[in-house]
Amino acid sequence: MSKVLLKVENLKKYFPITGGIFSKKIGDVKAVDDVSFFVKRGETLGIVGESGCGKSTTGRMLMRLIEPTEGSVIFDGKELTELNDTEMRIIRKDVQMVYQDPYASLNPRHTVEQILEEPLIVHGMGDKQERRKRVKEMLEVVGLSGYHAKRYPHQFSGGQRQRIGIARALMTKPKLIIADEPVSALDVSIQSQVLNLLEDLQAEFGLTYIFIAHDLGVVKHISDRVGVMYLGRLVEITTSSKLYEHPLHPYTEALLGSVPIPDPTVSLDREILTGDLPNPADPPQGCAFHTRCKKCMDICKIERPQLAEIEPDHYAACHLYEQSI
Ligand code: SF4
Repeated sequence: MSKVLLKVENLKKYFPITGGIFSKKIGDVKAVDDVSFFVKRGETLGIVGESGCGKSTTGRMLMRLIEPTEGSVIFDGKELTELNDTEMRIIRKDVQMVYQDPYASLNPRHTVEQILEEPLIVHGMGDKQERRKRVKEMLEVVGLSGYHAKRYPHQFSGGQRQRIGIARALMTKPKLIIADEPVSALDVSIQSQVLNLLEDLQAEFGLTYIFIAHDLGVVKHISDRVGVMYLGRLVEITTSSKLYEHPLHPYTEALLGSVPIPDPTVSLDREILTGDLPNPADPPQGCAFHTRCKKCMDICKIERPQLAEIEPDHYAACHLYEQSI
């Protein structure tokens, strides 16, 4: 069995821009532009970037909830982009999603039992008795109780609703969970509880996670490796420890500079992210980050840097390191 569970190559999603009275195509928004990465079995890959960087579109393309424009997604040895709808439905048993807003993703008219049973019905798993038994088991696994099964989503707190969302994702015993900003809508005090729960579940069930977030602070403890995206491209990817201790890309440095440090004795002489994200429909030439980069050189405005291995297992797309390749 291959150690790599998911391999993504040259993944692209271009949304057409139309204009004029005939709504002719006049360009593309390159929401995801040539992204490649892999995820090993049992590890957590964090994907981080500001909103609009393409991280959620990437997550959805992995499940083909958004169709890729181009590229390859190999999951457990199968090329997902070539599967038909029926084949893809079978794969979704093994790849599940946890969403940012648990309230929006849980049907308010269904009881928790109906919500959790649904994926089993869709995939034809178990009879009614077995399904109900699994609902109770999963509620307990995520720190709720069997008696919660008859309640409705509005009767729970935000943190409890996210536990229900996680239980639903686990119902079909998936191999990979794509968690798209799973704690961003929660109070800070609840965030760590949900993160701890996700870590415990990973250890218990051998799960593999892709954890999407806009904040490097959130993914720090849960991720084995982290990829940083900017305007549809990966600009840095490496192990969690290398990224946090020795970031190479000026954008990663600036993102890290925006993570609050609870220790008042720590010097605040850090790069801080300034300026707005450029319009994705009209990205800057050369390095897309050059309009906000304090280390910008002449070449950065002309030539786009390619993602390259600057140090062992540490990839970055930046002209600063071209001599060291
Ligand atoms: Fe900054 Fe140039 Fe590196 Fe882009 S390529 S991040 S503009 S130094």
